[in-house]
Amino acid sequence: MAKPRVGILGGGQLGMMLAEATATFPVPCEALDASEQAPASRVIPVTRGEVGSADDVVRFGRGFDIVTIEVEKVSVPGMRALAESGVAVRPQPDVVATIQDKGTQKAWLVASGFLTSDFEAYDDAAALREAVASGARSLPFVQKVRREGYDGRGVHVVREAADLEALLDAPCIAEDMVAIAQELAVIVGRGVDGETKAYDPVEMVFREGANILDVLLSPARVSTAMAEAAQDLACRVAEAIGIVGVIAVEMFVDGDGELWVNELAPRPHNSGHHTIEACATSQYEQHLRAITGHPLGSTEMKQAAVLVNVLGAPGHEGTPVYLGVEEAEAMGGVHVHLYGKQKTWGMRKMGHVTVLDDELDRAIDKAHRVRDMIRVEAEK
Ligand code: ADP
Repeated sequence: MAKPRVGILGGGQLGMMLAEATATFPVPCEALDASEQAPASRVIPVTRGEVGSADDVVRFGRGFDIVTIEVEKVSVPGMRALAESGVAVRPQPDVVATIQDKGTQKAWLVASGFLTSDFEAYDDAAALREAVASGARSLPFVQKVRREGYDGRGVHVVREAADLEALLDAPCIAEDMVAIAQELAVIVGRGVDGETKAYDPVEMVFREGANILDVLLSPARVSTAMAEAAQDLACRVAEAIGIVGVIAVEMFVDGDGELWVNELAPRPHNSGHHTIEACATSQYEQHLRAITGHPLGSTEMKQAAVLVNVLGAPGHEGTPVYLGVEEAEAMGGVHVHLYGKQKTWGMRKMGHVTVLDDELDRAIDKAHRVRDMIRVEAEK
């Protein structure tokens, strides 16, 4: 039987790494992206078009047996039209519709019985301000835009009245703050036949003050019982939503050791980059296996891993130059992934580094040195 052809909606770094996984799991892939020079174009053909346009999604997708995504902000009507015309759309349009809007995502979590912080939805900043004024919404809370927020953009923490001035003016949710002790993420693959396989939980460590990931630790520094509970929770989420493909479940651990679901991503996720080098099967290969109806691969962790993002240096905008990469690579166990983006700007995600070691502490130490070593500036 001929190999199914896979169309990926989005050609960013996740699309690029999905395409790279075809080296170990060969299926022909192509991507749709607004830019023909998008990161995925280094590996597979990229067709120019908007993933948010139903017409572009249909025009691109009808040439494939299977259509998948690497971003959530895709046209669900376009995906539905493809599914109706016989294309296997995985993850399914309904799953993407539920998750791509943080309002419907939270409502689904609540209705499905998963522990998540209480929330309400608002049309804009004025409506939220009014709810605070009337006492319907109390402080502190976290405001999140319903669509297209990512990497901490689209998240605003309101601790005191003065923080209300900087409310984001968009359809949003406001949710109660969780007293976070640790942040975990578990990636689960779920196959066409309903089989699920979870990776070990990773721990996300954020930079003080900014909602920006500092380092990501695998394995998370939790007890075996907590790790199992997190994996079990993530598998239950994957089963309840019925996804085919990979899903990331971000969680909070509170002071009592209770697990709260923070948010979901119906695709390979930045908390799983380390699986490329650290696990028996990468999350990207797992996603390809799941959507093509193959058995899932082993999620076994071979080594401890720490991930650091390579971010554009603040104040530098333009064609990127990378400094310190070879010095970092020379340390051993250091794997640098640059996404080949045409332009850098302050704090833009330009790549990531996975640091491996038999001991997590040593990997953490090395990762901090790597983070300080690699710099992305703009060409002068
Ligand atoms: P993004 O989609 O940008 O990743 P998240 O919903 O993950 O947004 O929020 C970003 C970060 O903000 C979280 O990792 C966490 O540190 C903090 N945060 C989000 N929601 C809450 C909450 N309910 N209580 C406390 N902190 C939160």
